[in-house]
Amino acid sequence: MEKAFSNLEVWFVTGAQLLYGGDAVIAVDAHSNEMVSGLNASGNLPIKVVYKGTVNSASEITKTFKAANNTPECVGVITWMHTFSPAKMWIHGLQELKKPLLHFHTQFNKEIPWDTMDMDFMNLNQSAHGDREFGHILTRMRINRKIVVSHWQDKKGQGEIGEWMRVAAAWADAQDMIIVRFGDQMNNVAVTDGDKVEAELRLGYHVDYYPIADLVKVQDKVKDTDIAELVKTYENEYDFADDCKEKGANRKQVKEAARAEIALRRFLEEKGAKAFTTNFDDLAGLDQLPGLACQRMMADGYGFGAEGDWKTAALFRTMWFMSQGMPKGCSFLEDYTLNFNGEKSAILQAHMLEVCPKIAETKPRMEVHPLGIGGKNDPARLVFTSKQGPGIAATIIDLGNRFRLIVNVVDCIKSKKLPKLPVASNLWIPQPNFKIGAAAWMLAGGTHHTSFSYDLTVEYLEDYAEMAGIEIVIIDNNTKLRELKKELHMNEVYYMLNKALK
Ligand code: MN
Repeated sequence: MEKAFSNLEVWFVTGAQLLYGGDAVIAVDAHSNEMVSGLNASGNLPIKVVYKGTVNSASEITKTFKAANNTPECVGVITWMHTFSPAKMWIHGLQELKKPLLHFHTQFNKEIPWDTMDMDFMNLNQSAHGDREFGHILTRMRINRKIVVSHWQDKKGQGEIGEWMRVAAAWADAQDMIIVRFGDQMNNVAVTDGDKVEAELRLGYHVDYYPIADLVKVQDKVKDTDIAELVKTYENEYDFADDCKEKGANRKQVKEAARAEIALRRFLEEKGAKAFTTNFDDLAGLDQLPGLACQRMMADGYGFGAEGDWKTAALFRTMWFMSQGMPKGCSFLEDYTLNFNGEKSAILQAHMLEVCPKIAETKPRMEVHPLGIGGKNDPARLVFTSKQGPGIAATIIDLGNRFRLIVNVVDCIKSKKLPKLPVASNLWIPQPNFKIGAAAWMLAGGTHHTSFSYDLTVEYLEDYAEMAGIEIVIIDNNTKLRELKKELHMNEVYYMLNKALK
């Protein structure tokens, strides 16, 4: 179990009714206990499951769900109908429930005991119809949920529950997410902007502005001894270009980068912030664009978006949170430049400086070079190319009447060296191929900034979109432009109607 999730829990609530007598009630309880113990012992769930008893009446259901709402450690609720559980009983409780819901369509008994099955067995093992009754009321009430269909001992089903748990934990994490912005949006940029009030209502993000002068005040108090210690950490973790080493011509620039990192960390900690943005046009009082700090802080889970992009900063934090303990990493990235090469056409992903070193394929290298924009001193940065393999690139855009999450499955391929462009980079072919993938992304209105992950799959962000109640558009090997256009048109109508229905 990940340490990160060790304080969290997911509640397991079994549905039944009192029609079948006292023996049935006792058996339902015993079976539920055994299932929850089995799930916890499986090693496939990152968060512990807590059995909260069997509910047999409307008042019990409402009481349990209200308690879930009021328990901060509880990040979600799993329900399962062991016997038939008439669903009108669930209406008031479900009206109350504010936590993510997973409906587990399982059964205590695995295979039908053909020779011995009698009516007592049937009175117990009724999820075949009990879960359909429950599913109906959720659909009738237009409640988003995840459905996992699997025997409870099956590894694949347990894995699906585990994925949902990670998303539920990240959802809880986002509900008090403070995003600090130094400066505003880069002037005139549309796609990274959006409605911050709606974002707080819908996604939990709280976005606050601070003048860069406030950061400069913190920076001016950073001691040389703290800087020396951090530079030592850099030397342990990365290769150093000669001019960055002790007595090298650019040593001072590395020290200034360390000063900015210490200041940024102190500032964000003091504000309780989980994410931040910078703007290369708004750096008065800083020595250089704090690119190295952004790189290293992403690795520690701070959401980051460049040029004031608070939506991507927040989405990175969420994707980092979900994928804690996973091996390959995630990063903020920008569609940098294109490589037309037939079927192998690809997009080079990079940024001026700010790419998370967790996605590097080899040890990152500390270098200092001039930066063409911003008008500041030469910034330090980690230079590397990235791992190969599949991943997902995601963004949230504001369409005026709603948020849309766009997810593209991409295949990262081997990149060539960039001796004259000393930045960290990744190279990928969007699915289903560059031609369709790039067109689909732009038709959907996607950003040039993304939050990228090797470890997460589309399913994680599908669950996230369900929890948030926002639109999701997926671009993968099944995408056809004609179908996608229809989907985008249909969604316009659906989201208008959906508001009216709720
Ligand atoms: Mn950018």
